[in-house]
Amino acid sequence: MQPTIVLFGPPGSGKGTQAARLHDEAGYRQLATGDLLREARRAGTDLGRRASAYMDRGELVPDHLIVETVRDALADLEAEPVLLDGFPRTVAQADALAGALDAHGRELTAAVLIDVPDDIVAERIMGRHQDREDDRPETVRERLRVYHGETEPLIGYYEERGLLRRVDGTGDPDAVHAEVRAALG
Ligand code: ADP
Repeated sequence: MQPTIVLFGPPGSGKGTQAARLHDEAGYRQLATGDLLREARRAGTDLGRRASAYMDRGELVPDHLIVETVRDALADLEAEPVLLDGFPRTVAQADALAGALDAHGRELTAAVLIDVPDDIVAERIMGRHQDREDDRPETVRERLRVYHGETEPLIGYYEERGLLRRVDGTGDPDAVHAEVRAALG
């Protein structure tokens, strides 16, 4: 069976960068929910309109909206290695993912946590071009709060299932990439 992996971590942990590297260097098909939502918003679709205000406030888009979107996207994937970036972000989403993968004859291979402490991610996001509406300082604080409250429980969830791979995300992108590759074995 082709691998299916989840990349998760706080905002600014470098998930997107690592996902792109895994795509380029290991051939993973990338499914990034933040990108899907931003695209939907640009295109003015129903999903984009419904998700927009949550995104600008740094909150999570309601589970049912995002779960439906991911289900549709998974249905389009062939038997190729898949990488989920930014999903799941809640335990309910993780349960929905397990069900959706099962329906497609897949199962999760690993959940890679890119671990970076709050002070470093805050510094990184404030230091980069704040061209995203949700990169304003007060929104970044909200995104971090949401991460700790809603997404961090996934650490225990995947640990219990023997799927958690923890990677130190404080190094440069090459160093983190090497760790991710090693974690995936
Ligand atoms: P980051 O990881 O830098 O916070 P993303 O690009 O992954 O950013 O996501 C941006 C925003 O899109 C999130 O703050 C949230 O509002 C929304 N979003 C993305 N993925 C999900 C998800 N799985 N569940 C709910 N909302 C999501």
